[in-house]
Amino acid sequence: MDPAGMMAARIGEGTSMTSTTRAVSALSALLLTAALAGCNGDAGMKPAPDASPAASRTPSPSPSSTTPAGTTDLALAESETREDSVYPDVGDPLVDALSYDLDLDWNPETDTLTGQETLVFRATADAAKVPLDFNEQLQISSLTVDGKAAEHQVDGNHLIIDAPIKADQRHRVELAYAGVPAPAPAPSQRTDFATGVGWNITDEHETWTVQEPYGAFTWYAANDQPADKAFYDFSLTAPDPMQGVANGELTSSTKADGTTTNTWHLAEPASSYLVTVAFGDFQRTDLKSRSGVPIQIWTDPDGKALPGGLATTPDAIDWLEKYLGPYPFDTFGIVVVDNESGMETQTMITLGSTSYSLSPAVVVHEAAHHWYGDTVSPADWSEVWMNEGMAMYLQGMWEAEQEGRSVAQKMDEWAAFETDLRDSAGPPANYDADKFGDGNIYYGPALMWQELREKIGDKLFFEVLREWPASQENGNADREEYWAWIEEKTGEELTSFFEDWLLGEQTPTR
Ligand SMILES: [Zn+2]
Repeated sequence: MDPAGMMAARIGEGTSMTSTTRAVSALSALLLTAALAGCNGDAGMKPAPDASPAASRTPSPSPSSTTPAGTTDLALAESETREDSVYPDVGDPLVDALSYDLDLDWNPETDTLTGQETLVFRATADAAKVPLDFNEQLQISSLTVDGKAAEHQVDGNHLIIDAPIKADQRHRVELAYAGVPAPAPAPSQRTDFATGVGWNITDEHETWTVQEPYGAFTWYAANDQPADKAFYDFSLTAPDPMQGVANGELTSSTKADGTTTNTWHLAEPASSYLVTVAFGDFQRTDLKSRSGVPIQIWTDPDGKALPGGLATTPDAIDWLEKYLGPYPFDTFGIVVVDNESGMETQTMITLGSTSYSLSPAVVVHEAAHHWYGDTVSPADWSEVWMNEGMAMYLQGMWEAEQEGRSVAQKMDEWAAFETDLRDSAGPPANYDADKFGDGNIYYGPALMWQELREKIGDKLFFEVLREWPASQENGNADREEYWAWIEEKTGEELTSFFEDWLLGEQTPTR
C-alpha cells in the first residue's frame, strides 16, 4: 500500500489525532506531495492500497483446481503455515491452501455474488474439523469435502467444517454460496480503509477488493493469513458491459446471453491479501516494458485510456529492473477502481481513481512490491515493514532522481517526521494492531535501508537488494531469516542495528 496519500487524507480528517501529530502529518504530506512528480497535491488526499502478482500457463478448460498434469505443480504452493502474531483470529495453521478455483457471477441489479469454489489444501495435522475464514453474510447452499457432503457452521468470520483430515494429505473442499458481500471493519485508522476491507460495492454497482491485512473471507472461503500462498483460477461472469478483472493472465473472454465471462489464471502462488477481483465497465490498453513484460491496463471507458501517470508504467518496470533484476512474474497489470487506495495485488495492481493513486510515484511503489511483498511475502503481519520499508525506499530513490536531488537529502526530509510516526503507531515491527498501515511501517524502515547502504557501500547494498527476492522466489520470510541472510551476505553483525530501527521506541541516531 501507499502511505503518502494516507497521510494527506489524515490532515482533513484528524478526528483521533493530537494537534501535534496533525501538524506533523500536514507537514510531511506537504513535503511528500510536493515531491511527487506528476502528483497534484489536492488529490494526494486519498490514499491507495497496492497489490498484485501473476504468471501464465495454458488456459484451464474447466473451473476445476485439478489442473492438467504438467501445467501447475501444486507442491510449489506448499507453505509453512503459522498463527499470525498480530491478527491470530484470522487464518489457521492447520490448513495449507494449494489452489483456489473461484467461479464468480456478479449481479449488479441485486448486488448479489454467486460463487462456486474449489479449494485444494494440504492438512498440516490430523484433525476432525477444517477451519476456514468466511463471512456469514454469504449463504452456503452446498459443501463437500473430498466429494462427500459435510456438516458445517459459519459463525462471524469463521467457517468450521466437520470432516476428518489427515496430516500431509491433500483434501478438496467444494462449496456453492451466494449473497450480498459486506466488507469487514479494517484494523486501521487510514481513511482509504474507512469502507472496510474485502469486497466493496460502488454506487454504480461495480465492485473492487482491497484486503490487506485480511478480508478475502468476505467473498470466498480462505485461509486468510499471508504465510499461506496458493495458485488461483478465476472465472468471472457479469452482464454486459461489465466484465471481471483479476490477478494473472486473461486466458479467455466469452460472450453469451448478454454476459461476458473472463477466465484468469495466476501461475505463481499468492498470499490471499494479494488477490484482486474487480467487476466493472473497462477499457483495456496493452503496453510492454523494454524488457518485454506484457502490461494490461484496465480503466473507465468514459475517461482516458491511460489516466494520470499510467502511460509511464513500462518506465517504472524498466527503472526497477535496473536496481532489482528481472521482474519476477510473467505479466503486469493495473486495474483502476472507484476507491482512494493503491494496492500491490500480484501482477494486477489495484489503484483508486485519484490523481495521487494514479501518479507515477505510486505506480513505482506498487510495482516495487512485486519484488518486495509479492514474490517474497511476509510470513506474519509483524513483518509488513519488509514490504513497505523497501517499497518506500525505492519510491524515495525514484523521487530523488526526478527531483534532481540525492537520496540522502530525501531521507533527511523523511527523518524530520519519523519520530512522530513511531510515537503515534509504535515501532515498525511491533506496531499497534489497531493502526495497520500507518506511516510508521513506511518511513523508519526506509531510513534504515539508507543507513545500511551507507554502512556497507553501494555495491554490496544493491547486491542485497537484487539477491534477496530472487533467493526467496514465491516464498515467505520472517525477520530472523531475513536478518540472518543479510548478515551472511554482508559479513556484518547487524542484529542490534535491525532491532534498534525496527523495535526501538525511538528513532535511532542517524
Ligand atoms: Zn506499499
